[in-house]
Amino acid sequence: MVSGAFLRKRARGFDYLIVGAGFAGSVLAERLAATANKRILLIDRRSHIAGNAYDSYNDDGILVQRYGPHIFHTNSKQVVDYLGRFTAWRPYQHRVRAAVGDVMLPIPINRTTINGLFGLDLSEAETREFLQNRAEPVARIKTSEDVVISQVGRELYEAFFRGYTRKHWGLDPSQLDKSVAARIPVRTNDDDRYFSDTYQLMPRHGFTRLFENMLDHPNIKVMLNADYRDVIYEIAYDRMIYTGPVDEFFEFRYGKLPYRSLKFHNETIDREQFQPVATVNYPSEEVPYTRVTEHKHLTGQVHPKTTVTYEFPSAEGDPYYPVPRSDNAELYARYRKLADGEPDVEFVGRLATYRYYNMDQVVAQALATYARISGVRKRQMVKSPVCDPARAEV
Ligand code: FAD
Ligand code: UDP
Repeated sequence: MVSGAFLRKRARGFDYLIVGAGFAGSVLAERLAATANKRILLIDRRSHIAGNAYDSYNDDGILVQRYGPHIFHTNSKQVVDYLGRFTAWRPYQHRVRAAVGDVMLPIPINRTTINGLFGLDLSEAETREFLQNRAEPVARIKTSEDVVISQVGRELYEAFFRGYTRKHWGLDPSQLDKSVAARIPVRTNDDDRYFSDTYQLMPRHGFTRLFENMLDHPNIKVMLNADYRDVIYEIAYDRMIYTGPVDEFFEFRYGKLPYRSLKFHNETIDREQFQPVATVNYPSEEVPYTRVTEHKHLTGQVHPKTTVTYEFPSAEGDPYYPVPRSDNAELYARYRKLADGEPDVEFVGRLATYRYYNMDQVVAQALATYARISGVRKRQMVKSPVCDPARAEV
């Protein structure tokens, strides 16, 4: 942790030291540099910008996302318009199949899933009735198990959710907040898109190019392969924006906040297409990975070979997922109090605010933070726990 004493104003240094060149840090760097004319030093300990959204061409010339599949989807026109300043878009609707037994069925569960799994030919109304008959009433929906059981019943829960969740999180769905499984809708029609958002797009030339354009400003200096703690005492700056793990900032004073990690295994195959859709989920606990993603579906790239990524969940490794459950929320609340006591540091992003946020929510949170610190908006706007940042105004 860097105490407030070191954050005093120094002559001719940077206005902001921003830790982390992912969406949170890069959006704030861009806004502060381009709109408020601030001088920014953006530091990342990785060898690249773009955080977990980083993509690059592999040895075979295929554009691959290094940290798993990232699909941009949002209901916020403001976020689309803002990011659209730095990229052209390619319309892309993400589709996922779940491998259940010998068949591949659409997930989210929809009419096709039900008919395929049970050998039926139900109409939309009959599918609704079918699911209503299987759904189990739950008095108070608290956990991810409650969410699924109360919508589709135990059999479908076990086929599609239980094993996947146990693998991915190392926890049973009954131990996870309802918000986790609630990310996945249940449908009775044939809509097999993974997301329901109004805007579903991919940056035409990839995420890294979007970040390069965003950070291309004379007021922004980027320093890579550098942990901010190793360089902080050599750099003059006024304020800090921190987007790394919040518990790490405070040197784990109250103990470690749990994060879930993944190991990625890439394979390039000498044929044009590997699987019919971008991602296939493997809910069975007998399969060690959770999903396989074929990158060319996401990017639209045409190439005689194809690269796929297997995701193996892991307790060790880079912190990718905050784990939504009440004891973790309580521990985070204690760190949040410490963060609130740091007047010269802003904590922004998925790891620094310990929230299971998508990219658009992080962008909206960063834009709302910018609005607040530049005086456009009051502090309360982003501090409210019920505020959905993806709905924030830019
Ligand atoms: P990050 O991207 O994690 O950036 C934080 C940066 O801070 C990192 O680059 C890190 O190296 C740096 N850092 C941390 N500590 C230090 C330090 N001490 N010194 C220097 N640098 C430091 N979202 C979607 O919208 N759609 C998707 O399809 C999607 N899929 C996902 C799939 C996976 C497997 C994962 C893990 C996430 C996915 N997300 C998706 C979520 C998305 O990745 C995040 O919402 C977003 O990238 C978070 O941005 P961020 O800036 O908060 O954090
Ligand atoms: N999930 C599941 N089976 C699936 C898809 C999702 O059980 O086929 C659950 C699982 O707990 C997962 C969560 O829903 O972690 C959210 O899924 P999402 O695809 O949004 O996860 P992410 O892309 O963030 O890893």
